[in-house]
Amino acid sequence: MQILIVGQGISGTNLAAEALRRGISTRIIDQPKKDTPSKTAAGMFNPVTFRVPTLSKNAREYFSVLNQFYTNMENETGTRFYQPMPYTRLFSSPEEQNNWIHKCAQGAFREFASDEIHQYSTPISAPLGGAEVFSAGFVESRKMLAGFKEKLLKDNLLTEECFNFDRLEIHENKVCYQTQKEILEADYIIFADGPQVMRNPLFNFLPFRPVKGEVLTLKIKDFVPERILSKGMFLIPKGNDLFYAGSTYSHKSLNTNPTDDDKQKILQTIEKFIKRPIEIIEHRAGIRPATKDRNALIGKHPEHQRVALFNGMGSKAVSMTPLLASVLLNHLEFGTVIDKTVDLNRFVKS
Ligand SMILES: Cc1cc2nc3c(=O)[nH]c(=O)nc-3n(C[C@H](O)[C@H](O)[C@H](O)COP(=O)(O)OP(=O)(O)OC[C@H]3O[C@@H](n4cnc5c(N)ncnc54)[C@H](O)[C@@H]3O)c2cc1C
Repeated sequence: MQILIVGQGISGTNLAAEALRRGISTRIIDQPKKDTPSKTAAGMFNPVTFRVPTLSKNAREYFSVLNQFYTNMENETGTRFYQPMPYTRLFSSPEEQNNWIHKCAQGAFREFASDEIHQYSTPISAPLGGAEVFSAGFVESRKMLAGFKEKLLKDNLLTEECFNFDRLEIHENKVCYQTQKEILEADYIIFADGPQVMRNPLFNFLPFRPVKGEVLTLKIKDFVPERILSKGMFLIPKGNDLFYAGSTYSHKSLNTNPTDDDKQKILQTIEKFIKRPIEIIEHRAGIRPATKDRNALIGKHPEHQRVALFNGMGSKAVSMTPLLASVLLNHLEFGTVIDKTVDLNRFVKS
């Protein structure tokens, strides 16, 4: 099988990595941009949603493949970017603590979270203590994308240019695309174009609901928690006194300009539970390719069977794309059925 992927963000990268492992002939077209969500993301994977403690949908399935997937990617690219790490939920109120303990009495949640309450000492300020989530960590997405890009360029599999829909020909049994230099042919073209899908004439009918988000890179000296901490906002230790902190969510002003409001919101929340001087090193904003029902959108175009989509990863691209890459490729190669919760055809009237 031959595939052509548009987009080398987290989605396109993980899809291409899985395809290459299967021996599928793969080419990628990507227009390099600085402010894509994949280059903004904190890259965290965490099976638990905190507001009302809940296990993320299909957590067991998604998290069962992560470790092997990213370890393989590190070996294939010779880059280190995968950091499994305990995740501590610090409690803000007795009610939160009670909800957590209550939830931990339930089977599936207990597989991923502990009901043991730990106390933390200064500079962490959390009088009600915290509890741990297992199977969490983060991927340094910028390093991962750069490592994979280098491998693609070396193998001559990447074309860096803007995809032009006028140069795409869709036939019954193949697609052809004319780049600025050559004609590419493939069995399928797969769009992994992130929030830019809103301008994709083949898929902009789908109910995307993009969400803006902002993150800070902070410097906090002599503080080595060796765990991700969360109390209203997360704090991820990257090493060398650097931390990612965030993130915010907004449906307004869908642009990639960082705002003073969100900077203050993140900083003030972190300052409430970390009692140390904090320096801001970097401030970034991006758009999450989220959907109205908060599920991914993958599968074949309802009318063009040689055209597919791998998108809608919302705020969980790092944890969902390794498994979903296999789901989509199995569908294209072997005709296996895509679960209707993520199949884009759930929005197509029959
Ligand atoms: C502040 C913030 C924090 C986040 N934190 C996390 C987190 O902790 N964990 C997590 O899992 N997710 C997180 N996310 C979400 C995550 O970033 C996204 O789900 C993910 O990056 C989407 O990846 P993608 O590859 O689908 O899209 P993108 O990153 O947008 O990649 C698409 C690629 O396609 C290219 N492209 C698009 N159209 C064209 C075209 N016509 N021609 C050529 N190239 C094209 C783009 O240039 C880009 O390189 C966060 C997002 C934000 C904004």
